[in-house]
Amino acid sequence: MGAVGFLTSCAGSPDTLGLPSAGPSSTTAATLTPAPTVPPKPIVTPTPTPTPTSTLPPPFSAPSLTKVAIPDGVMTDLPGDGKLLAWTVDDGSSSEVIQKYIEFAKATGMRLTFFLNATYDGWSTHADLLRPLVKSGQIQLGNHTFSHADLTSLSDDQVIAELQKNHDFIEKTFGVDARPYYRPPYGYRNHRTDRLAASIGYTTPVLWYGSLSDSGLITDQQVVDFATQWFLPQHIVIGHLNFLPVTEVFGQLEQIIRSRGLQPVTLNDVFDKPA
Ligand SMILES: [Zn+2]
Repeated sequence: MGAVGFLTSCAGSPDTLGLPSAGPSSTTAATLTPAPTVPPKPIVTPTPTPTPTSTLPPPFSAPSLTKVAIPDGVMTDLPGDGKLLAWTVDDGSSSEVIQKYIEFAKATGMRLTFFLNATYDGWSTHADLLRPLVKSGQIQLGNHTFSHADLTSLSDDQVIAELQKNHDFIEKTFGVDARPYYRPPYGYRNHRTDRLAASIGYTTPVLWYGSLSDSGLITDQQVVDFATQWFLPQHIVIGHLNFLPVTEVFGQLEQIIRSRGLQPVTLNDVFDKPA
């Protein structure tokens, strides 16, 4: 996929100081004129710059939507013609990135869905910080298997165990039931894994329609470029809690969402919870 270029133009022309060329030209006769006294430099008292009445945008809040039924099968985007954006992030191999995502959500009201792997320590380390946002519904937790396994490579029992172990961690640690949403690692799934997952209540594999492509290390500018490309109405976009660059550009990502009039949502904001 071709990244859409997003060049921040900062090629301002430096101000060249037009200094006048050197002083009066040759005085002929050496008339001894007294050297002019250099006037003292005026003491410049800095005038206080008026602080603009800082108007931070209001934090994002829960949308009031008429919830719809979860469509059957694999989910890759959000139904309808709205201006919703489901920003979802996976894994959690960096405890620091987990912390920064949570702090970003707290500061901005950003609504996010975390597809976590409990094998990563950061989910326990930052459980107390994350729990209130999960309780309020601002951050939703989805199942991404315990150890980030390729489900299609596992036996039936192992597929169930990977999902169940992660499910149990989420329920015990955060007091929520992640069903029916799970994201198969790498997007690898088939009819067999779908059937096995559904047998324990994970009936909705959630894939994506656009990616920040940061499961591995990329630059912060690349993260911005991918967000520019994919933060679009009714998209489910995938990112990762693995490397720091995304945390350096949270402000720019938020700005893309605001400038496009998008409403960030969790899946629970959009869909009825099945009985
Ligand atoms: Zn993953």
